[in-house]
Amino acid sequence: MLSMFHETGAYLQGHFRLTSGMHSPEYLQSALVLQHPPLAERLGKMLGEQFRRIAGAEKIRTVAAPALGGLIIGHETARALGARFVFTERDAAGKMTLRRGFSIEPGETIAVVEDVVTTGGSAREVVEIAQAHGARVLAAGSIIDRSGGAAGLGVPRVALHTMNVTAWPPEECPLCRQGVPVVKPGSRAA
Ligand SMILES: [Zn+2]
Repeated sequence: MLSMFHETGAYLQGHFRLTSGMHSPEYLQSALVLQHPPLAERLGKMLGEQFRRIAGAEKIRTVAAPALGGLIIGHETARALGARFVFTERDAAGKMTLRRGFSIEPGETIAVVEDVVTTGGSAREVVEIAQAHGARVLAAGSIIDRSGGAAGLGVPRVALHTMNVTAWPPEECPLCRQGVPVVKPGSRAA
């Protein structure tokens, strides 16, 4: 799995400011793997297999993912499961919402998909939105778990790769101390 990241240049090394505000010497830019549809399809199949194992006899009817990170992998996972795919997005106030006419029915079986889980914040919001609609969230999954398995989403969770990421608060960052410019992944780093 990680070889896909290395081969597509998606494993970045440098000095990164993560969404959490922490600084890190490494970053996995999953968009660089997912830009290749055959690789996205393979990852979707792998996540789909894990979800099937968790769901057992139950059929997952819908995959839900937070935009933007979860769009492509969520879509491919839904394809692998023969499920529907919906996504959530943040409104102007930053609140995660289900828009564009998407609906979720009471009792609907759902799997939540994200590309990379760091704190699990976005995925957790999607789980809560689905549950607020009365859906049954059977599982959540990501390509990468950067939390070392620590991020809890309140539902069974899977990841294709779990890693313990080195990260420091800015004031303790050795790279800052060395004067190495910090970049935000997704902008210049990508
Ligand atoms: Zn730093």
